[in-house]
Amino acid sequence: MKMPTKIYALGGCLLLASGVVSAFVLLNPARTWSSAPSYIVDDRGNSTVTDNDGGATRTVAAITSNQAWNGAGAGTVVNAQKGSIDGFALGDGTPMLNFEDPTGACDGNCLAATFTGYYTQTGRGRNRSYTIFDADIVTNTAYDWTSEGENDGCSNEFSIEGVHVHEIGHGLGLGHSNVSGATMFPSVSACNNSPATISQDDADGILALYGDSGGGGGSCDLGQAGDSCTANNQCCSGKCRGKGGNQSCR
Ligand SMILES: [Zn+2]
Repeated sequence: MKMPTKIYALGGCLLLASGVVSAFVLLNPARTWSSAPSYIVDDRGNSTVTDNDGGATRTVAAITSNQAWNGAGAGTVVNAQKGSIDGFALGDGTPMLNFEDPTGACDGNCLAATFTGYYTQTGRGRNRSYTIFDADIVTNTAYDWTSEGENDGCSNEFSIEGVHVHEIGHGLGLGHSNVSGATMFPSVSACNNSPATISQDDADGILALYGDSGGGGGSCDLGQAGDSCTANNQCCSGKCRGKGGNQSCR
């Protein structure tokens, strides 16, 4: 049976229109949290998920699992717990995962979206870096959702865990990858929860952003400072700088 494929998200993370995208893509400019964000996951859950709490507990478990971003090799890069999202506001410094979409931004083929525009610049010139301070997530309630905790099987429902692991990837600074099977691939079929488990490509993206931060003893096997490069995703810092044939990792 062929299932329709839906597009995940907007939030400033469309596929690059130019150049060949061959692997993970960092948001541009490359940006990171200064310490692992603590997401508040909407304790109302989603009404179409018929497990104990509308998928909320399952979503918390999925996004903090070692099968997801925290298992990439860069230590704990995201925390989450269930809570009230009553104070939901974009850019307020409190990252929330909303099982509804009060913004109305995620419609049509959008399953869920992450607002990635909230970061600040530190330093200037070669020393500048960008720090994320908020990255809220909204969910399209026009679709039926399921979780691994449902016991009625899955039919034309989208997996709430996998989709939100993908969105958290945006929240941590990743864009879309064209690697089929990667969590950060831009689309997913109904009843497919495989994005809840990250691929090597996804892990490489997190290592590029957080692998040299020392958070969990992770090590980044991408370019180190001074190594030649041609793209940001070749550098542990996520920063390939310079001109022409004379670019190097910062
Ligand atoms: Zn996406």
